[in-house]
Amino acid sequence: MGLCEHQPGTAGAGGGREGQQGLEEQVLKPGLCTGCGACVNICPYQASYRDKTVTLHSCDLSRGRCYDFCPQTPVDREALRRQLAEGAEVTPELGAAAGFFITRATDAGIRRRAQHGGTVTALIALALREGLIDAAVLAAAGEGLLPRGITVRDPEEAAGCAKSRFVVSPTLAEFNRAVRTDCRQIGVVATPCQALSLAKMRTQPVTAADSGIEKLRLVVGLFCGWALSWRELAALVKGKTVLSGVSGMDIPPSRYHTLELYTAAGTIPVSLDEVTPCVRPACRSCGDMTAEFSDLSVGSARLPEGWQEARGWNQVIVRNRRGGELLALARLRGVLEFREVPEGNWDRLKAASLAKKRAAGGVSG
Ligand SMILES: Cc1cc2nc3c(=O)[nH]c(=O)nc-3n(C[C@H](O)[C@H](O)[C@H](O)COP(=O)(O)OP(=O)(O)OC[C@H]3O[C@@H](n4cnc5c(N)ncnc54)[C@H](O)[C@@H]3O)c2cc1C
Repeated sequence: MGLCEHQPGTAGAGGGREGQQGLEEQVLKPGLCTGCGACVNICPYQASYRDKTVTLHSCDLSRGRCYDFCPQTPVDREALRRQLAEGAEVTPELGAAAGFFITRATDAGIRRRAQHGGTVTALIALALREGLIDAAVLAAAGEGLLPRGITVRDPEEAAGCAKSRFVVSPTLAEFNRAVRTDCRQIGVVATPCQALSLAKMRTQPVTAADSGIEKLRLVVGLFCGWALSWRELAALVKGKTVLSGVSGMDIPPSRYHTLELYTAAGTIPVSLDEVTPCVRPACRSCGDMTAEFSDLSVGSARLPEGWQEARGWNQVIVRNRRGGELLALARLRGVLEFREVPEGNWDRLKAASLAKKRAAGGVSG
């Protein structure tokens, strides 16, 4: 018997297909798991192992949070978008859009440690300092390029988690753990699948009862083209350099067709022809490039000066009031620098996002 709660009156309605059995059949077995961690730490039956989600015990509940919170199980995305947008314009390409900005952290120390302009770290640090959140669930560097979810309490710890890890982080497993602690107001940095899962938790109050979701106060989404499968990435990197010697990586704009590996000896460019086979299968059917279900979303910038300048800045989409207020506070406190958005950036971002939706086979974000 499972330990999960189920929605009253729905037991048996899904014939076991909206509980763990459904998760197994529709997500885990077909290889569609994103590894986000949403089904982990809500009952003892699912666990994260490396970048995989594994089932430790079978559960016979016909409905469960593991299924309801999974970003890969059915959901009315349009309704969810409108609900979270709080009246902001909802564009078909990019979801809710209450504002579009180019920013970077004012603090050069944050920028040096960050992936791009350090906007994400600066915003999380600000939210912690101002008491908008008392904990942030982030992805920290783990062993051999495997990230791990971590809960941090102070801005310096948040800065220690800066930079992008291109293997999925079980961030939501850590979120599910953190809500059971004395954390009261939690912020999460999330990839698009993780932001979708959090949105499902936020908007399903019945199954989410006692899940601690009311502690979620902020979702900073990351733009995401795809994540890489750990085993395949590790094998690829081992063919180029020592795994432990890679301090970071990045994917410049598509015309470079390259993934860059950063090592003490310099940057190693790897052709995307070699990288593409390492893309996590679940990511191939994801049509959300900009974390549409977050409060605000952050990605790398595109500037007329070219990539060397642009990589030190971020593009930011404000989705709702919560995201807008945080960005306004960042401006007021001077923790972010703003520069004018180059003409055409919004339309180019829309086109790139639409291309991802199309490549995902018509799956609407
Ligand atoms: C898998 C992946 C794919 C991405 N693809 C794109 C893309 O196609 N286009 C684009 O513009 N941007 C992409 N990004 C986002 C980009 O790499 C930067 O994160 C973003 O520009 C913010 O930069 P920053 O300097 O503000 O981040 P920082 O200030 O360095 O902060 C980065 C934050 O991201 C968190 N983080 C790192 N790795 C992960 C992870 N795997 N899962 C969850 N959280 C994580 C860290 O804990 C940290 O809080 C991707 C990020 C990831 C993780």
